[in-house]
Amino acid sequence: MSQDVDAGPSPQSAAEPGLAAWVTGMLTVLAGNADAEVPCGSCTACCTSHQFIHIEPDEAVALAAIPSAVLFPAPGRTGAGLLMGYDEQGRCPMFVDDQCSIYAARPRACRAYDCRIFTATGVAPDPDKPRIALQVSRWELGSGRPEDVDVRQAIDAARAHLARTQDAIEPALRPVTSAQAAVVALLLSRAYLTEAPDGRLTLAPLDDAQAAAALRRILESAVSR
Ligand code: SF4
Ligand code: SF4
Repeated sequence: MSQDVDAGPSPQSAAEPGLAAWVTGMLTVLAGNADAEVPCGSCTACCTSHQFIHIEPDEAVALAAIPSAVLFPAPGRTGAGLLMGYDEQGRCPMFVDDQCSIYAARPRACRAYDCRIFTATGVAPDPDKPRIALQVSRWELGSGRPEDVDVRQAIDAARAHLARTQDAIEPALRPVTSAQAAVVALLLSRAYLTEAPDGRLTLAPLDDAQAAAALRRILESAVSR
C-alpha cells in the first residue's frame, strides 16, 4: 500500500452485523428493494476511485440531475444505459466539496454500493482502487455466529465455482471488474443456500451442473439490464 493512501478514519465504529445478516441485507439491496446502509464515517473512497457509474434508462431522477456532458453510452449493454466517468484524480464529477452534490438523486449503482461485498466474498478490489482496498481491509463482518457458518461455506463454494469456470464464460457475459465478480459470487452463493422455516439460511446440496445453471441465469440477467 502506498503511503499517500488516505481513505480517512476507519468506518469500523459501527458494530459488525454478522455475515448472515449482512448477506441477507445485501441480497435485498441487489434485488433493488433497499439502499445499502454502510457506516462509512468520513470515507469517500468509492466516489474518488476511478469508478464508472452505470445509470439505467429508467433512472429519470438521476439522469435529470447529472449534466449530459459527463455521460456516455455504456458499451455492451442491451438496455442502452449510460456511464458516468471520473476526472483526472479519479473523482466522480458529481463529487463536489468532499461530498456527493446529488445525494438525493444519486444513481441506483451508488445506492447499492457496499464495499463490504469484497470482505464478504474475499474478492480483492481492482488494483487501481487502493483507498477502497484499505477500507475493505478494515471491515469485520463476523463469521463466528452459528448462523454465519453455512453462509461462509456457501460464499466460499460460489467463489470457487466462479474461479474454476470464469475462463469458459463467453466474454459478453464474463464479469469484467472485481466489483462485478464480487456481486456475481454473492448472488451465486444464494443458490448454495436454502431458507429454513425459522428464516435461517442453511447450506443446500448443489452439484456443478446446478451451480453452472445458476451462474448462467445470474450472468444473463446482469447483461440484460
Ligand atoms: S468505500 Fe466503503 S466505506 Fe468508503 S464510502 Fe464507499 S462504501 Fe463507504
Ligand atoms: S453520484 Fe454521488 S454517490 Fe455516486 S459516485 Fe458520484 S459523488 Fe459518489
